[in-house]
Amino acid sequence: MASFKDLGLSEEILKVLVELGFEKPTDIQAESIPLLLEKNKDLIGLAQTGTGKTAAFGLPLLQRIDPNNKATQALVLAPTRELGQQIAEQLHTFSKYQTKVSVLAVYGGAAIVNQIKALRKPQHVIIATPGRLIDLIKRKAVKLDELQYLVLDEADEMLNMGFKEEIDKILSYTPDDKLTWLFSATMPDEIKRIVRKYMDQPIEVKVNTKNEVNANIEHQYIVVRRRDKEEALLRILDSDPDIRGVVFCRTRLDTQDLAEFLMRRKYRADALHGDMSQAQRDKVMKRFKAKSLQVLIATDVAARGIDVNDLTHVFHFTLPDQNAYYTHRSGRTARAGKKGVSIAFIGSSDQYKIKMLQKKLGIKFEAKEIPSAEDIVAKAVEKWCHEVLETKTKGKLDEQLIEQANMLFGNLSKEELTAKVLLNELQKLNIGSDRDLNDQLKQRGEGGRGSDRDRGRGSRRDGGGGKNKYKGKKKFDRSGRSSKGGKKKNKYPEGFSKDAKNRYKKKKKKA
Ligand code: AMP
Repeated sequence: MASFKDLGLSEEILKVLVELGFEKPTDIQAESIPLLLEKNKDLIGLAQTGTGKTAAFGLPLLQRIDPNNKATQALVLAPTRELGQQIAEQLHTFSKYQTKVSVLAVYGGAAIVNQIKALRKPQHVIIATPGRLIDLIKRKAVKLDELQYLVLDEADEMLNMGFKEEIDKILSYTPDDKLTWLFSATMPDEIKRIVRKYMDQPIEVKVNTKNEVNANIEHQYIVVRRRDKEEALLRILDSDPDIRGVVFCRTRLDTQDLAEFLMRRKYRADALHGDMSQAQRDKVMKRFKAKSLQVLIATDVAARGIDVNDLTHVFHFTLPDQNAYYTHRSGRTARAGKKGVSIAFIGSSDQYKIKMLQKKLGIKFEAKEIPSAEDIVAKAVEKWCHEVLETKTKGKLDEQLIEQANMLFGNLSKEELTAKVLLNELQKLNIGSDRDLNDQLKQRGEGGRGSDRDRGRGSRRDGGGGKNKYKGKKKFDRSGRSSKGGKKKNKYPEGFSKDAKNRYKKKKKKA
């Protein structure tokens, strides 16, 4: 396969790619970049998010900008502000050494005054959501009469979101001789209409269209009763602390309820949905990207365009109604060549939906069970032992300290010592206690398949901490900090961030 150097990119751009650790171009990049750099033609790129398409159009776009011409030369239209921000972030990074090239994102949900101010300076590349752009054009804050390049990113999503008229309007403000580069995961009739109306004999580049679902995703499903879904999720999270993922729910209320359920149990989770303000959503996304959140509970619309590369899992708390949404959702994992797992929680009467997805999307699902209490503890022990074996001690610890520890442990057998250290470790992972570990897991939900005694429902009412099972006992959170459980009456569960508390308060008021 070609290297980035072979594609005709400038030294300034190649330098950034080395710094970013992009070793070789993805398929869409290898195919599109030389065409976009050399040919003065319209282009249709059929590719999904996660295939590297931002760089596929972004790198040639930046290279083609003339920094001495102050006019806006390129416009990138994106369906959501999240995607717009992510494109802008990537273009800022890619143009690090093109110091005279300016890039600006404008989108709804943020103060228009600041955007108007920023637009007073020359902006070579503008990334915009359709509604806000029209607003800015009407206020004469944006001029597109010298536009040379128009990129329509996720064109099918833009139409799904009802931006048909806005796109027509924006295009009417642009010169006829500009180049149009359209990227879309699918080619519904509406896109074909745009192609016919606005594009001139475009070149078509297709990537992975036979099987739209990323082949690096392992698809699994678990048959579970509605009332056991929360517990099933907890157990999967407990079975592997390295899981990072998005849990998809169908409604805003469901995302909020599930996020609160997890936060009460000290999981690093939060919700992302349309009832939240832009500032709240930005805050949650920032925490998720910084890995201070392990799971994000989101609706389909809110999660569109989430660009986080190292997500190991996607959970479908409820399956989506449309097959395309399953593809979009599962595409949040296994990005940039990595592997990922997509797990659907389904009711026993929903198995036909799995069969339909298999057939329609050409994928294979594997049936899985909820991890048992024993599985979770066994996995945690295995992981810990592996980590201990991997630890290099030589040269790091003072010999005297080792001797001192050996002397203090002198009377303990190897078995006793292992048991003590192990218990200590498991407690830190929140799956241990000063009582028997298995008992505690069993007590939490009797296998996730049995009764819902002592599960989410009851605990939700008691304000957190998983009923009173920890009352008066030492309690452990995920970070290994311990506190006296049951004594302190917190108005809000400890896991709640300030932001989540406010949302929680508002919701209560509404109710
Ligand atoms: P996109 O499909 O543009 O949203 O890109 C998905 C992610 O893959 C982005 O976070 C990029 O930073 C990353 N990426 C894009 N191209 C490459 C590449 N050639 N090598 C490694 N990572 C890449």
